[in-house]
Amino acid sequence: MLDADFFRRWMTVTAASIDRETERLTALDSAIGDADHGANMQRGFHAVTAALEKEAPDTPGAVLALAGRRLVSTVGGASGPLYGTLLRRTGKALGDAAEVEPAQFAEALRAGVEGVMALGGAAPGDKTMIDALLPAVDALGGGFAAARAAAEEGAVATTPLQARKGRASYLGERSIGHQDPGATSSALLVAALEEAADD
Ligand code: ADP
Ligand code: MG
Repeated sequence: MLDADFFRRWMTVTAASIDRETERLTALDSAIGDADHGANMQRGFHAVTAALEKEAPDTPGAVLALAGRRLVSTVGGASGPLYGTLLRRTGKALGDAAEVEPAQFAEALRAGVEGVMALGGAAPGDKTMIDALLPAVDALGGGFAAARAAAEEGAVATTPLQARKGRASYLGERSIGHQDPGATSSALLVAALEEAADD
């Protein structure tokens, strides 16, 4: 079973991982965007961990709802509302249970990813965070390690794609040959599940 502490760890492990990878995310976004993705994610997840410490929400759904709200209010870029929707929708789908089964979480995360697709209009193959998140959700039934591998593979597989959504799409064919920054940060988010479960 996954409790509020697990979801809190998921957020703090993600924040630490983004701290380590900020420069890489910024470098990826400087190739096909405006070089702010590392700073956006770092600012957002610092705000998330600060809010979780201060407010100490006590259910999985409340942890993710608070995290999502903080991302929306602190991240200026496109990624703020998109990641905010991911976590808020996932949290909403978990309801107010004190603990959830991994299968329930997998279903909830799918609802979250569908929320991102509805908000941003991206489909698989558009070279966005969806290309890491959707394969991860599909693999999640096989466990966190399987989800992590699928997300990392999905992020790498964005490299040869031409962007059809977001700022990178303005580059047209020049977006080809670079890994998508949002898919890369999504792979970090998914990878953090495994570490949060090990702790
Ligand atoms: P901005 O593009 O506003 O500078 P960021 O740099 O923080 O915002 O985030 C860029 C990332 O957001 C992209 O790499 C992509 O993965 C994701 N993204 C952008 N637009 C969309 C969209 N419509 N749907 C899904 N993801 C998107
Ligand atoms: Mg950017």
